[in-house]
Amino acid sequence: MGCSVIFLDIDGVLVTTRSFASGKDAGQSASSFDQVGVGLVKELCDLTGAKIVVCSSWRLSHTTFDLVDIFDSNGLASKYFHSDMLTPELSPSKYVEIDAWLEGHRGEIDGYVIIDDQVSMSDPCAVVPNYSDGIQWRDFLRAYRILTGKDYKEGAKDVC
Ligand SMILES: [Mg+2]
Repeated sequence: MGCSVIFLDIDGVLVTTRSFASGKDAGQSASSFDQVGVGLVKELCDLTGAKIVVCSSWRLSHTTFDLVDIFDSNGLASKYFHSDMLTPELSPSKYVEIDAWLEGHRGEIDGYVIIDDQVSMSDPCAVVPNYSDGIQWRDFLRAYRILTGKDYKEGAKDVC
């Protein structure tokens, strides 16, 4: 049995106008992650067994080592990530890169969700947060439904 994957963006999902504005008095930088968003992504992984693959442009400006460190220091430990944790750098289109990643893992993946503020809202596999606020509860519910085919119920656990 395969596993499911969360293609995860950073800006507009975990690094947001909201997180910066609310954290700057506490000394947080513009790259500090929204901790509620981090918590929701972790819960999604814990409940569904999904692993994260990063599709953010941050992968173009940081080494994999640095990205792992940034995620870890913001509360997302390496155990939450797929062993092949970055989409390839192929084109300005994230869909081309996501399709290429999926093609490279054909037969291994049961399902996926894309959480990104800049993909198509009409994509049935996409959750599209508002850039200023990042991932919200309604986004979590939609992502859970896409990954499991079921509505979220408190206490549910559906690890693959
Ligand atoms: Mg973004």
